[in-house]
Parts: sequence; structure tokens; C-alpha cells
Amino acid sequence: VDCIFCAIGRGEIPANAVFESDEIVAFRDLDPQAPTHVLVIPKEHFQDVADLSERNPQLAAKLLAATTTVAELEGLADGYRVVTNLGADGGQSVWHVHFHVLGGRSLQWPPG
Ligand code: AMP
Repeated sequence: VDCIFCAIGRGEIPANAVFESDEIVAFRDLDPQAPTHVLVIPKEHFQDVADLSERNPQLAAKLLAATTTVAELEGLADGYRVVTNLGADGGQSVWHVHFHVLGGRSLQWPPG
């Protein structure tokens, strides 16, 4: 498989999905850093959020809106974090754009 998140988007690799639409899937991170740790991706491949927002801003807005849906489904009314890592210095490890939705505990700031 070329891109693991493309494969998840196509349903070829199992994921623990919490939300899905024709264009987007949200699924639990394999290595959760909080009680809720969900990744929200477009099924179409974009390497990072800069690539996505440049080439398809409408889909970028839908992806952001999907993070709100995840927070509602997960009951994160007390607050949560939406973050996307970009590039080597940003700590990106999977080169298919994803928003992390983290919550269910009090989160620290700043990141390391
Ligand atoms: P990042 O480091 O921001 O690129 O985030 C990539 C995230 O994807 C990490 O938190 C990984 O734990 C997670 N991850 C990698 N492979 C999978 C997978 N097959 N299913 C769910 N989460 C994954």
C-alpha cells in the first residue's frame, strides 16, 4: 500500500471509524494520546493541510467542520484540541493530511 490513510479511506485497511461521509472519514488513532484521539482525513490524497487548502479550500472547510462533529459525538463539551502537524519540524509522520481531535482530559500547552 502506497499511502496508509488512502487505504483506510478506501476501506482496504480496517480502522475504528467514528464518523464517515462520502469525502471524509474520522477514525481512532492507533496510539492515542488522550481518552479521545481521533484522526479526521479526506478520502482523497493531499500531503498536508497547506496542499489541501490550496487545491481544495471547500474540502478543507468540510474537514474542519467534521472535527466539530467528532467533538460532539465524543462529548467533548469541556474543550478539546484540533491540531495538524506539517512537515518534519511540525512532527508530521503520515503524509496524508489529517486533523487530530484530542480531548477527554486537561491538555497541556505549549507542545514540546
Ligand atoms: P502525525 O505524526 O501528525 O503525522 O500523525 C500520524 C498519526 O497517525 C499518529 O498519531 C499515529 O499514531 C497515527 N496512525 C498511524 N497509522 C495509523 C493507523 N493505521 N490507524 C490509526 N492511526 C494511525
